[in-house]
Amino acid sequence: MRFSLSCPSCPIVSLGLLVAIPAGLLVAASTVPAAPAANQQEGAEKGREWAVHDPARPQPARVETPEGRAPSDAVVLFDGTDLSAWTSGDGPAKWAVRDGYFEVVPGSGGIRTRDGFGSCQLHIEWMIPETNNCEGQKGCNSGVFFMDRYELQILGSNPNETYVDGMAGAMYGQYPPLVNPARPNGQWNTYDVIFHAPVFGSDGSLEKPGTMTVFFNGVLVQDHSVIQGATAHMARAKYSAHEAALPISLQDHGDPIRFRNIWLRPLGK
Ligand code: MG
Repeated sequence: MRFSLSCPSCPIVSLGLLVAIPAGLLVAASTVPAAPAANQQEGAEKGREWAVHDPARPQPARVETPEGRAPSDAVVLFDGTDLSAWTSGDGPAKWAVRDGYFEVVPGSGGIRTRDGFGSCQLHIEWMIPETNNCEGQKGCNSGVFFMDRYELQILGSNPNETYVDGMAGAMYGQYPPLVNPARPNGQWNTYDVIFHAPVFGSDGSLEKPGTMTVFFNGVLVQDHSVIQGATAHMARAKYSAHEAALPISLQDHGDPIRFRNIWLRPLGK
């Protein structure tokens, strides 16, 4: 479909500019069509689905984004009131809810979402309480596990040095964060993650590895990092085939870490 387009900044072929050009080049140059029509024609010729600036292209779905709240199309996993979206595996989640956040109850075990998810956008906020004493991997440790097996590390890292593929913002045992934007204990941190699930063939072979992009307090710390396999400690990660949707889990590493404002938007492939 063609349509007229008013575009003051589009290039215009002017014969006045071609006066000094040799005759051989003039023939070629004069065949160059004006920009909008050329782009549309190119789209049609190459079999692309849409022409440039095609008015028939569908509008994106409307999403409401009220300040301080989850987007209207998000799955809310914790809104400050209860852990009904989570389980301890054998029943209700055993972690403590108070004052708009929940906290790991050390020794109670990790919690996981009741529903399974594949590729998604996840927002989660976490805090290391001021009273925690961080010593390397001890005292201030938790983690977000996508599909119950791919860990984005949570750790008190301001200050607290440890091996860099185990600090806050690390994909545990695989990639350190690009920078360290962790806030001091007692302050809330945010992770905004784009997780793409791995794809396995019908024979269980890996067809496409997963990836993670992570903004930590608004700062890019994982840039489409390719997941090497299920998180492992003191070992190289390996893949093994699994379902297309699995729970997100949070780690009980024995430390009282706090969480709030957790929401997720499932993504297409
Ligand atoms: Mg951890």
